[in-house]
Amino acid sequence: MSYKVFDICIIGYGPVGATLSGLLSSLGLSVLVIEKNNGVSPTARAINTDSEQLRTFNFLNIAPKIIANSRKIKKVHFTDSEFNPYSTIDIPKEDNLGWPPALLFYQPELETIIRDSNLKYKNLKILENTKAVNIEDTNPIRVDIRNDRKDSRIYCKYLIGCDGANSFVRKYIDSKLIDFGFDQDWIVIDAHTTKQIDISKDEAKQICDPNRLQTYVPGRRNHKRFEFKLLKGETKKDFTKKKVWELLSPWINKNNSKIERAVVYKFHACIADKWKDKNIFIAGDAAHQMPPFLGAGMGTGIRDVFNLAWKIFLVIKGKANVNLLETYQLEREPHANWTVQQAKLIGEMMEQFSYREKGEKYVPSNTGYGEVFPHLANGYYGDPTDGLIATPFCRFNLDSSEKDSDEYFGWNFGLISKKKLPKEINLILKKMNIKFLSVNDNKLKNYFKDANYLLIRPDKYLFSRSRTNSELKEALCELEKQFSLIT
Ligand SMILES: Cc1cc2nc3c(=O)[nH]c(=O)nc-3n(C[C@H](O)[C@H](O)[C@H](O)COP(=O)(O)OP(=O)(O)OC[C@H]3O[C@@H](n4cnc5c(N)ncnc54)[C@H](O)[C@@H]3O)c2cc1C
Repeated sequence: MSYKVFDICIIGYGPVGATLSGLLSSLGLSVLVIEKNNGVSPTARAINTDSEQLRTFNFLNIAPKIIANSRKIKKVHFTDSEFNPYSTIDIPKEDNLGWPPALLFYQPELETIIRDSNLKYKNLKILENTKAVNIEDTNPIRVDIRNDRKDSRIYCKYLIGCDGANSFVRKYIDSKLIDFGFDQDWIVIDAHTTKQIDISKDEAKQICDPNRLQTYVPGRRNHKRFEFKLLKGETKKDFTKKKVWELLSPWINKNNSKIERAVVYKFHACIADKWKDKNIFIAGDAAHQMPPFLGAGMGTGIRDVFNLAWKIFLVIKGKANVNLLETYQLEREPHANWTVQQAKLIGEMMEQFSYREKGEKYVPSNTGYGEVFPHLANGYYGDPTDGLIATPFCRFNLDSSEKDSDEYFGWNFGLISKKKLPKEINLILKKMNIKFLSVNDNKLKNYFKDANYLLIRPDKYLFSRSRTNSELKEALCELEKQFSLIT
């Protein structure tokens, strides 16, 4: 009997699965999505995105639409109980990626934008109301699915579990969650103002009140997000409607706002020890979970799939050796681990400030909170302490066309230089499918300090900076060693 074998099957059509399915479909691969629910989840959980995710969303041509439906934020304060700031993070309108570094959105709307954009792909099939119930790691991989109590099977070359915190795929590949020991109950309240009121519109607040830690985030349009830590002994039963309005009383009231939902969440911090088994992968909340203080849970998942999409594409198209797929966990896991630890640390910093107001001491389990994401732990060549190598490369407008650098390079590896290339290098670039751009641009001044050649990856991380032709040849050899591009 003949059956269709999809290039990719994605289990889970949350924000991470939806983004991945768009990215892979845009590359022409045949993609099947299996989602047990129907329609976008109405629950607004994630609220903050950043420039790196917007870069990814722009590969789906939806970044401007997301920005148009979001709120740009100017500051994040850590304050005492009376809202006096202990410390403030200023957020610029744009960073060197050419997108806002922090942007507040409404999750059901964001997911709708991604899903609407996915509708254009004829090579993307979405089965909603369908649950993945079993996996057989055969060749091709078999996934047993259940829809309206009817059982059937689908087949694929690669399977990716974007199936959230209780991931079925993670359990199938026998991956264990490493727990970082952070478990806190918080009530998360989404409200919408119905009148103009005097409430901070472009500043978020982490309120380190010794009586109860709190978070306020001004969402897009009238959406407002509030989070309150549960006190010792409190349970969700204590949070009656009356109690919820009481908590909100310094901010909003029944006369000027409506509550959409108030739900108690258990925040925790953990990471999976195994992200891949043969041709089966996990990404997003399936691979890591973190408290929302950094606003980076979904973002970490979007980074996972931007990393994975081009690798799977190159391997399926025979443009890279299958070893390339081994770099997924090597590159993503340390970065995600850092992010989970940072999110946990922000929670601990809030505790520390609140203890200070009480005149008591609290020592966080870690130190070294930084606002900037770290460089990749693997997948580069050179010294990343220059602050450039292994970090997201900037986006700039080309002199010669309307395009920007991201559009010009697309999903290709790229070489940027101010110098003409020798014939020998041109031949190597051709063999490795690397796209060349000659620039004479002041915007890249810091990148070209002590360097004449910049190698960038398809996900726009800077691979290397080289000064001489022989240094460039070394970097290209290293690129080949790490990514096996000559097949
Ligand atoms: C209060 C709160 C605030 C947050 N704030 C932020 C923030 O500001 N910024 C940020 O980046 N992140 C934030 N997060 C985290 C963010 O919401 C999650 O990281 C993100 O939603 C995870 O997306 P995902 O696609 O990996 O998983 P999910 O959204 O959980 O999607 C998984 C999907 O898989 C489906 N599924 C599961 N099992 C199966 C199966 N067997 N068969 C078929 N389908 C299946 C599910 O139905 C679901 O649709 C926050 C989270 C919370 C709780």
